[in-house]
Amino acid sequence: MRKYRLLTPGPTQIPEQSLLALAKQVTHHRTDEASALYRSVISGLQQVFCTKNDIYLLTGSGTAAMEAAVTNFATRGEKILVLSSGKFSERWADVARAFGMEPILYELPWGKRFHPAEVKRLLNANDDIVAVYGTLCETSTGVGHDIEGIGCVVRETNALFVVDGISATGAVECRCDDWGIDVLVVGSQKALMGLPGTAMIAVSEKAWKKCDKTEKQAFYFDFVKYKKNDADSTTPFTTPKSQLEVLDLNLKLLLEEGITTVWTRTAKLAAATRAGFTAMGLQLTTAFPSDAMTAAFIPESIDAKAFMKTLENRFGIKFAGGQGDWKGKIFRMAHFGLIDECDVLGILCAVELTLNSLGFAVPFGTAASAAEMVFSTNDADCRRW
Ligand SMILES: *Cc1c(COP(=O)(O)O)cnc(C)c1O
Repeated sequence: MRKYRLLTPGPTQIPEQSLLALAKQVTHHRTDEASALYRSVISGLQQVFCTKNDIYLLTGSGTAAMEAAVTNFATRGEKILVLSSGKFSERWADVARAFGMEPILYELPWGKRFHPAEVKRLLNANDDIVAVYGTLCETSTGVGHDIEGIGCVVRETNALFVVDGISATGAVECRCDDWGIDVLVVGSQKALMGLPGTAMIAVSEKAWKKCDKTEKQAFYFDFVKYKKNDADSTTPFTTPKSQLEVLDLNLKLLLEEGITTVWTRTAKLAAATRAGFTAMGLQLTTAFPSDAMTAAFIPESIDAKAFMKTLENRFGIKFAGGQGDWKGKIFRMAHFGLIDECDVLGILCAVELTLNSLGFAVPFGTAASAAEMVFSTNDADCRRW
């Protein structure tokens, strides 16, 4: 017998009260009841995303919405700017190339943060860029990008600002309208704690104007269909209704707690985790961490595979490993979802025991002590950690 502790930055554990909705029989999706569910989900998402814009629901994982966010707003031959520094932000460029676009890259080494001033320079130097593609939390590196700062720059131009908020929207501050995000892409299985399989996308007025005049390489993902059906409170194709039932209950949990309270709670868990890892002598992957997750290097002196295996076999802890160049070098854990203070303390102790068992000596209690210091501060003070 062992508890399974899913701590990856997506998918994440689903609250039990929401999970129970899955025990119900499937019902048809073109009914008044289904439309009421649809409206409730959209309204919940608008509050969590801090937007008044239309939101469309796509059946597919987050990448489906990334593809839709490329094909609806740009076409073959048009220039887009991709802020690329990690596995997921690189995907924007990969999708664009697959549809015959030539993305201009603002590339940085993994772990670094984009500068709004450089985005401004690139936009000024290429006034035919139709859209800028950024990422709120680069899940492969753990970097939280300055979406607010970049949004200030992009909103002064004709270009759209498209943001991948898949792993962090719902867990950390993300003010879609205030920050000038024209297109926000989110997935169900990360901070929103849902089943994998639904993607959502918020679309501004400015983005709609571009969408209307774009020659689209899309059929299933053509937003014209989604907009038309949204007027009737439904999706153009079969609604993943059971997934939406779970999502609806999750959104109510987040909104009952209050979305800004959720952000603060997540920030505190992140601060305590960073303090614990650092106290143990682990090196974080970035000086600009998102509060949605933490990523750290596995010490070079120990066997990285044994580290992950011990955590899994002895403690039931499922972390995510590294991707690309950081495969086998880092581990990543989420701070969203059902993870709480007690989990963080236990996880830190488990990591400490594991490191010691593999020959990386850390005095017992080091990580927990550092984390407790953070947990004992007022919420208002936690950012200084
Ligand atoms: C998980 C993730 C994706 C990909 O989402 P899928 O649901 O696996 O398609 C894209 N971007 C970011 C930032 C992510 O964290």
